[in-house]
Amino acid sequence: MNLARFPRIRLGHLPTPLEPMENLSKHLGGPKLWIKRDDATGLSTGGNKTRKLEYLMADALAQGADTVITQGATQSNHARQTAAAAAKLGLACHILLEDRTGYEDAAYAHSGNVLLDLLHGATISRLAGGTDMAAAMESRAAELRAEGRKPYVIPGGGSNPVGALGYVNAALELVNQAAEMGLRIDHVVHATGSAGTQAGLVAGLVALNSGIPVLGIGVRAPRPAQEANVLALAQRTAAHLGLPDNTVRAEHVVANCDYVGQGYGIPTEGMVAAIKLLAEKEGILLDPVYSGKGMAGLIDLIRQGRFGKDENVVFLHTGGAVGLFAYPDAFGVG
Ligand SMILES: *Cc1c(COP(=O)(O)O)cnc(C)c1O
Repeated sequence: MNLARFPRIRLGHLPTPLEPMENLSKHLGGPKLWIKRDDATGLSTGGNKTRKLEYLMADALAQGADTVITQGATQSNHARQTAAAAAKLGLACHILLEDRTGYEDAAYAHSGNVLLDLLHGATISRLAGGTDMAAAMESRAAELRAEGRKPYVIPGGGSNPVGALGYVNAALELVNQAAEMGLRIDHVVHATGSAGTQAGLVAGLVALNSGIPVLGIGVRAPRPAQEANVLALAQRTAAHLGLPDNTVRAEHVVANCDYVGQGYGIPTEGMVAAIKLLAEKEGILLDPVYSGKGMAGLIDLIRQGRFGKDENVVFLHTGGAVGLFAYPDAFGVG
């Protein structure tokens, strides 16, 4: 595996810290909990999409693009980081936002990530829930081409084999960091959505023969669909890397989708409790859509005794705390 042969533009503050969560570990009575701070990648308050954008934006520039188009939910962290990356690189950015929650309050519709999208100079179109967003991006791209522009379309979440290279890189970073610290990582746990984060991590960790299992906590799709999406993308990413066929297999991809609640972007009690716990015990801000539900899942699995007391469990913090400002009601402060 030779990542350096893929074009990359540095956008993130890397490597991100890998830190112990001593108070939370003590509070829960083990395992030993660690946090990989990909919320601290820096770009426009950071998050996991920045690593993917290092490869996606390099590809956009290599193709001579002058505009990037992407899509996400109204409070998309991916859209916000894409808008920031485009601003930094001097590209125009058009974002298609899908109304996946039906929330119409001002905080959800205009604050949090939406406020930052606009500050970065992106233009926004809002589309109804259930729209075929990939098709909508393609027709927007066709319009721009007709005007003589050169659009580059980034899929939702930046999740394709190019974007997933960002999390192959994160796998390398994590394994090296753990080796330097003398830390034996027994599990990595994180929130999984559009699949690129888990796909890249799994492809990288398997290619390195690390023996580190990854558990994705789903935020949208049911388990069979989520695992199939992650596996397919992990295998395409492995092929893009030139790894032998069958390097990534079904047994490497595990998702738990028991913590979605009523749907994508809809608060759960467990999410609210997890966010309050991390804020109070560790001074760390999670987000309501992804990392809050991911941590709710991790805490519940710990309480069920799924991890050994002396195991080292790394929670990958994928960012998104800006989204807290879109959900004041969920925290009783609306
Ligand atoms: C996008 C996102 C995720 C999920 O990552 P995928 O690569 O889409 O699976 C997790 N957490 C946050 C905060 C995100 O913005």
